[in-house]
Amino acid sequence: TGPQLFAPERTNSQGFDIFDVGELSRIEDARNVDLPARAEPLIAGPVRGAKPYDALNPATGERIGKVITVCEEDVATALSAGRRWNVPAAERARVLRRASELYETNFGAMFGLLTREAGKTLADSVGELREAVDFLRYYAAQAEHLEGEARGLFTCISPWNFPLAIFTGQITAALAAGNGVLAKPAEATPLIASMAVRLLHQAGVPASALQLLPGPGRVVGQALTSDPRIKGVAFTGSTATARHIQATMAENLDPGTPLIAETGGLNAMIVDSTALPEQAVRDIVASAFQSAGQRCSALRCLYVQEDIEPHFRKMLQGAMDELALGNPWALPTDVGPVISDQAQKEIGDYVAAARAEGRVLHELDTPHKGSFVAPALIRVGGIADLEREVFGPVLHLATFKAEEINAVIDAINATGYGLTFGLHTRIDSRVQQVADRINVGNVYVNRNQIGAIVGSQPFGGEGLSGTGPKAGGPNYLPRFVSHGVAQVTE
Ligand code: GLU
Repeated sequence: TGPQLFAPERTNSQGFDIFDVGELSRIEDARNVDLPARAEPLIAGPVRGAKPYDALNPATGERIGKVITVCEEDVATALSAGRRWNVPAAERARVLRRASELYETNFGAMFGLLTREAGKTLADSVGELREAVDFLRYYAAQAEHLEGEARGLFTCISPWNFPLAIFTGQITAALAAGNGVLAKPAEATPLIASMAVRLLHQAGVPASALQLLPGPGRVVGQALTSDPRIKGVAFTGSTATARHIQATMAENLDPGTPLIAETGGLNAMIVDSTALPEQAVRDIVASAFQSAGQRCSALRCLYVQEDIEPHFRKMLQGAMDELALGNPWALPTDVGPVISDQAQKEIGDYVAAARAEGRVLHELDTPHKGSFVAPALIRVGGIADLEREVFGPVLHLATFKAEEINAVIDAINATGYGLTFGLHTRIDSRVQQVADRINVGNVYVNRNQIGAIVGSQPFGGEGLSGTGPKAGGPNYLPRFVSHGVAQVTE
């Protein structure tokens, strides 16, 4: 074993600490959240519902709530009951701001559900709540200056990895623009979605303008992307599902109906020999392992300049050793569970195959209980060796020589994905050179490559990673309105 490069006493300083003490004090409220929670169809009409099932905590397997999904008849009811939100923009903005306040006053309960339903660590839950509140306020502010007409009914299909922030961002954008929304939350995370919709209704969004339809993709998603009353779809999830949605829409909806899709990534970072190693290591660990790697922005393939690699890898492995896996409630925990037993098995099988080939450079131990996957570092020749996005705490490592940097960027572009890219360097001219050549939505320099910031660092990709425009940026809301025919007033 080499020298210990990080302090042996583990403090949270290597962790993903982003609290202030006020936020921390509210965690106590979150522990007392009322359980079991409940998710149910929230539609503007009678609900029949399908057979209820139990929602489970992925860290413990404990039952945390009851879920009632929609049946086909409920989907039909919601489609007929859906209406635009037909009030002046200033009123919509006022209601959305009120919702942002309700999110804040219900911080503890929301926090408690995020941790229990999605297995989010404290740092991740805080970050997600802040982002959801930011989306509400940002789109409310934009709505007041938005030109164009509401399109009609929007379908919003959101992922389990940001069951509050992305869920809220999509529906808030559609609502701020005056549309009606039919929201399909991810099957793994309907509880937090139900809570969010109840708060939006409480704030004053009419029941006919915002309806929640928990249920499986083949029932709900299919109906909500093929009914001609739908005038737009916002989707975040896999590239394969986005393709399916696009084909369904093309066949059934009006030509030109917008699909705003944010999909997968195969994201890389380049660390050259001028980078500050401690900073780069910290940013790599966050980019690859925070949220147990379950972000589409996460770092999957790290390129380290050959001359610094041996030393750098030792530092990286030392930092990995300091990551604490376990109960997402505990302050020292950096990495919580993955979303389900099935995800655990799939990621575990992938790492096992690499291990059998002798390519696992470093890995941690896995806790015995719960759906945890231990962070792993795997050797590859380059990004072309990655066949697909593995949605977990698995980082691939490659090396490059200084003169190969353009070839590395070309290989990254050749994957067809284009979401995030990280660069650690202290060479000014290199930043521009790389940024000009790389085809991705978000290029991060000397920072980690997760955690886009609403308003200042909007988020979205190109190619296989999505349609753009970036969420949390100035071009997002205009996609939710029609700029078609100007009104003739005389
Ligand atoms: N916006 C998130 C981030 O910047 C990622 C969203 C996602 O994983 O879908 O890390």
